[in-house]
This record gives sequence, C-alpha cells and structure tokens, in this order.
Amino acid sequence: MLKRERLKIVRSWYPNAITTIDAVNQLVDYVEGTLALEPSQVMLADSICSDDVNSIQYPVRAHEFLGPFKMGGLDGFPFTGLTGMGAFASHVPDDGAVLVYYGPHIGVTRSGALGEIHRLGQAKNSGCCGAARAAMGKLMSNQIIAGNISELDYQMNTIEQILFAQKERIAQASVPLFEATEVIYEAIDRRILELVDKTSYPCRYVMLIGAILINSDSDMGSFHAQKRATLITLSTGERRDIADELQNKVN
Ligand SMILES: [Zn+2]
Repeated sequence: MLKRERLKIVRSWYPNAITTIDAVNQLVDYVEGTLALEPSQVMLADSICSDDVNSIQYPVRAHEFLGPFKMGGLDGFPFTGLTGMGAFASHVPDDGAVLVYYGPHIGVTRSGALGEIHRLGQAKNSGCCGAARAAMGKLMSNQIIAGNISELDYQMNTIEQILFAQKERIAQASVPLFEATEVIYEAIDRRILELVDKTSYPCRYVMLIGAILINSDSDMGSFHAQKRATLITLSTGERRDIADELQNKVN
C-alpha cells in the first residue's frame, strides 16, 4: 500500500500522524542541521510499550543515535523511574544531547479499526495496546479497586489506577479507548517532566519528544502523532517548542 494511502487511514484517527521513519528522519536532520551534533553524540532513551511489535517496527535509522535506553514498561509508562533517567543521563557524550522519546501506543488496522493490529503469522487481529485494553475492560466492569497495586502485576495495576482516576472522562467519551490513550499519554508526559526536573545531565541539550505511537498491521508499519517537542538548553535552562522546526525538516 502506498504511503499516502496508509497515512490516510491512520489520519482518520490522528490527523497529524506521520510515519515513524519520517519522525526519525526529522530528528536526525534537526540534530545535525540545527544542533550541529553527530547522531552518535545523542543518547536516545525511549519510554514506549514493551510490546514486541515496537521492537519489530522500530525505525532502523534510530540506531544512528546511541542507545536506546529502555525506560518504558506496559503502555510506555516510564517504569525505570528516577534511577533509569539518571542512568542514561550519566552515559551521554560530554558535548552531546539526551533525546527522550515517549508515549503510549495504539493499533489502527488497514481497515481503520482502532485498538487492534494484524500480527505476523496470525489469522486473527489482536489487541494493541493489550494492556490498555485489558485495563479498560476492568474499568468498564467496575473491577478496579482504588489504590490496588500488587507486586505480582505492578505495571498493569499502575495503568489501571491511571485510568481509574479519570473514569468519568473515559466512560463519557465517544471512543473510550481513544480517550484512555490520551489519559495515559498525559500521565506519561507529567511523569517524564517530573523525572527530567529531578535529573542532572552532563551534556548540552535535552530533547523531549512526546507522541501517540501508532502501530498498524505487519505490512503497514508504524506512525507518530506528535504531542510535544521541547528542546532544553542546559547551560541557560531555556525551554523551546521545536515542533515547527522539526516539521520543516520533513521531505
Ligand atoms: Zn502495549
């Protein structure tokens, strides 16, 4: 299927979606052209769902950066916490940059169905994000108990509590799974900003790219609907929205 046809399907849900390949190309061009750094001076950390589809659909060119350090657990929440953020911060080249890519994921099939994908070798579609869908099922059937976080299923219970706190908003939305994914994005974004504020980086820049990561069927690839693009210049503390500058790098 042509790229424009694939984009048309995904953009029926996420109007600003681009391919993850184009998103990575934008970032590499920005790093080289605007920050005047080599990609090998950039430490990439991602906080995306541990779902195997995210390894299968990982954009090859992202490996021009150092890393990735894996911060994410179920549905991309940064479960490695302050220690994870501190760990890769201490691995970054001296004059380089840290790039944190984060967000929840969701499937959009070739027929435009939300919350599922066709995976290699399977006859039927399966849930994506499976954890978000399972948490939604429990939320809608009133099975989530406030404050219940167990050692045996810590990450899943955390996702459940994030949704539970916004139950009304999700239940009243026209597409509850779409809304639940927005809620999880907001929780991840808040946590990432909190972790960044509590971490010191021995380099020049921190780039924060927040997005909804959209997976599709095995022959369709993955897509990126950006929500945040922030550049922090560490010497001055300046924070700048670089969404427009990144956009200009495309094609
Ligand atoms: Zn997932």
